[in-house]
Amino acid sequence: MAPLEILIVGCSIAGPALATCLLLSDVPVSQKPHITVLERSNGMRTEGQNIDVRGAGVTILRRLGIEKAVRAKTTREEGVRMVDSRNRTWGQFVADKSGKTSTPTADIEILRGTLAKILFQRARSVSDAVQAEGGHGVEFVWADTLDAIEQDGLKVHVHFAKSGKTKAFDLVVGADGLQSTTRSMAWGPQADDAVQKLAGGVYGAFFSIPAWEADEETLWRKWYHASGRRSIMVRPHEQRGRATAFMTVIADTDARLERAATNKNNTVAVQKALMKEYFGEAGWECERVVDDMMQSTDFYYDSIAQVKLDHWSKGRVVLLGDAGYCASAFSGMGTTLGLIGAWKLAGCIFQHPNDPQRAFDLYEARMQPTVALAQKLAPGFPRSLHPATDWGVWLIHAFVWVLWVSRVFGLLMKLGAGPPAHSVQVEETQVH
Ligand SMILES: Cc1cc2nc3c(=O)[nH]c(=O)nc-3n(C[C@H](O)[C@H](O)[C@H](O)COP(=O)(O)OP(=O)(O)OC[C@H]3O[C@@H](n4cnc5c(N)ncnc54)[C@H](O)[C@@H]3O)c2cc1C
Repeated sequence: MAPLEILIVGCSIAGPALATCLLLSDVPVSQKPHITVLERSNGMRTEGQNIDVRGAGVTILRRLGIEKAVRAKTTREEGVRMVDSRNRTWGQFVADKSGKTSTPTADIEILRGTLAKILFQRARSVSDAVQAEGGHGVEFVWADTLDAIEQDGLKVHVHFAKSGKTKAFDLVVGADGLQSTTRSMAWGPQADDAVQKLAGGVYGAFFSIPAWEADEETLWRKWYHASGRRSIMVRPHEQRGRATAFMTVIADTDARLERAATNKNNTVAVQKALMKEYFGEAGWECERVVDDMMQSTDFYYDSIAQVKLDHWSKGRVVLLGDAGYCASAFSGMGTTLGLIGAWKLAGCIFQHPNDPQRAFDLYEARMQPTVALAQKLAPGFPRSLHPATDWGVWLIHAFVWVLWVSRVFGLLMKLGAGPPAHSVQVEETQVH
């Protein structure tokens, strides 16, 4: 049987992870798939700040042979401190470095761009090894997108917008994130309903800034809440001398926030100006963070939403990671789901190489329980933790203080079922 021709759209976390899982499979080199990875950027994107890898996600990093490289680049965050405008701590939650419980700081905290780079380099080296044995490996195509996807039952025919080329693939995998165009092209207008905003309309900006001395004395994340449903985190960076920032705004009354996330004509300058308006006079250290944000070159802004679809495949097109089942930055599970999904999808493709429907149904059955748990945020969260008034902020501080001094939080984390990533079974090999 001829090897499968597979197109993966998106080269961030899930895309290169899938390419590596497919090529590391224990099948003769002549049967390894021919993979094309298409990325709309000119090269690997460096933006993005702290992301978590938990439970089975760490097992997959180990299986891909990159756990050591990843652990060498973590931000070493010690935990989370909730602070007020005078920098007083109202509660602190220490990281669980055993990776066994679901503390806000995960076993592995790493910058998104760093993890993406490690995954890309691994995909490229595995591909080189396959090519050295006479296989096809991976062809990376940068700075292009698809503008048409058509299926005839046997093949998926795609058209590349920039190069103008057309090509047929056996399978197309959309790993192109929350605003996936693979999803909108294959599913049609119904795909718009798949992106479900978190209650209240939640928007986030991520960037890095120069660290203050106090940021580096201890490697704690500081989380400051302002009235008007705003919060800002300053967190450790992998490089000394730098810190990362994550701004959150919850507002469904300001249409500019949504436009800034979805309208392709909105530039980073527009997004930064909006965040300046919200945080310029928000108190605490916001002034310095906003000043540094205006200078930042790795600024990333998006709406914080979830993706919910009845099924993750249409014919020979299947979705992976945020494109199919984004759980949102507040779940702490987006990256872990992308890694678990890549491993499981590769296994299911090898199990049913001639029957994509069966392969994709199996992938969905194996992933769905984990995704359902990851997408289940605490009731009203994150709106409930972002009060509108100063009085509401004080109440949150008081609540967190009680959890902290009574040690109830730590106990709940220990007694709880643990995060969904810990109960996931990771199949031993890709051919199972
Ligand atoms: C630049 C960036 C910064 C991020 N920063 C953070 C962060 O700070 N904190 C956090 O929690 N999460 C962040 N995320 C989201 C996080 O990476 C994901 O939630 C998670 O890792 C799952 O990854 P994914 O590979 O499924 O999707 P994503 O990481 O979203 O990757 C999608 C990839 O597809 C590419 N792409 C999009 N459309 C097309 C297209 N039409 N054609 C070709 N390629 C396309 C994108 O450029 C990107 O490389 C960020 C994502 C990106 C892209």
